[in-house]
Amino acid sequence: MMLDNLFDRLDELTIEYIKNEPMSRRTTFKIGGNADVLVKIKSNEQLKQVLSLAKSFDIPYFVLGKGSNLLVSDNGIEGIVISLDGLDDIKINGNSILCGAGTSLRALCIAAQKASLSGLEFAYGIPGTVGGALYMNAGAYGGEMSQVVVSATAIDKDGNEVILSLPDMQLGYRISVFKNSGLIITGATFELKEGDANEIKAAMDDFFARRRDKQPLEYPSAGSTFKRPEGYFAGALIEQNNLKGVSVGGAEVSEKHAGFVINKGGATCRDVLSLIAKVQQVVKSADGVDLEPEVIFVGRK
Ligand SMILES: Cc1cc2nc3c(=O)[nH]c(=O)nc-3n(C[C@H](O)[C@H](O)[C@H](O)COP(=O)(O)OP(=O)(O)OC[C@H]3O[C@@H](n4cnc5c(N)ncnc54)[C@H](O)[C@@H]3O)c2cc1C
Repeated sequence: MMLDNLFDRLDELTIEYIKNEPMSRRTTFKIGGNADVLVKIKSNEQLKQVLSLAKSFDIPYFVLGKGSNLLVSDNGIEGIVISLDGLDDIKINGNSILCGAGTSLRALCIAAQKASLSGLEFAYGIPGTVGGALYMNAGAYGGEMSQVVVSATAIDKDGNEVILSLPDMQLGYRISVFKNSGLIITGATFELKEGDANEIKAAMDDFFARRRDKQPLEYPSAGSTFKRPEGYFAGALIEQNNLKGVSVGGAEVSEKHAGFVINKGGATCRDVLSLIAKVQQVVKSADGVDLEPEVIFVGRK
């Protein structure tokens, strides 16, 4: 890989980057080896420049949100990790909110609440960015991104800007067009309803309290480890098979919520993968159900 040439060009373009960034610092699981380089994007222009450099130096890249749905390899990530945290503008126009893909859902939800706009309450407490939430079609408590987003802007591998309507995004249960198209989301527009700011706040607080009550938020994790299998709940299947508290190294099936694998301290990616395999095997042989990870594994094998 031509990383030294890349660093020279990034310096010339005054694009901020960090060499050998530990991904354990960039994921809510607090797991993962080093990314060769993490690039901090501040504009669409910079994103296009980085994509063009990646192409010309033949360096792989990966787009990072808040790392809240990721399990990163202990051997790190080859090439460039692109952080879009700097794309975090929020603009309110009537009932519409336009924001950058790096905007945290928390900031978006608070902005909507302050503007008395209702619809995003369910997302308060999901610890991701708008880009990550559209990629996953994140959802909770009966709401999901597909109910509130109306369009998105993205950049394709060749640096072309693309606008996607809601149908273009093909949002389904934890899937979207972004999973296979290589499109990098740069922004989104949400259409909300007028509401009462106090009622919106109360709903957000209620959802947050329910999370605190049910989820092991005191430990690092990547949220629900598995997708909901058709006709079942992953957490209930895991609990019924007495897997709560089962651990491999520092990774443990949460005692508080069996749907979460947590990092009890010092867990490695390998620990989590072994624990996931163990849970899948027990549930498959006892109930005949295949548990598919919701958490996305990335990085060097
Ligand atoms: C405690 C906890 C609770 C959670 N609760 C929920 C919940 O209730 N509901 C739910 O759905 N999820 C939940 N999650 C999972 C996670 O927060 C969501 O999936 C979230 O949407 C991920 O966003 P992110 O920015 O962290 O994305 P990341 O984890 O950084 O990335 C996820 C995927 O999105 C891609 N991606 C990120 N940004 C972009 C972009 N701009 N363009 C293209 N691709 C991009 C990445 O490449 C990666 O493949 C929870 C996680 C935790 C830790």
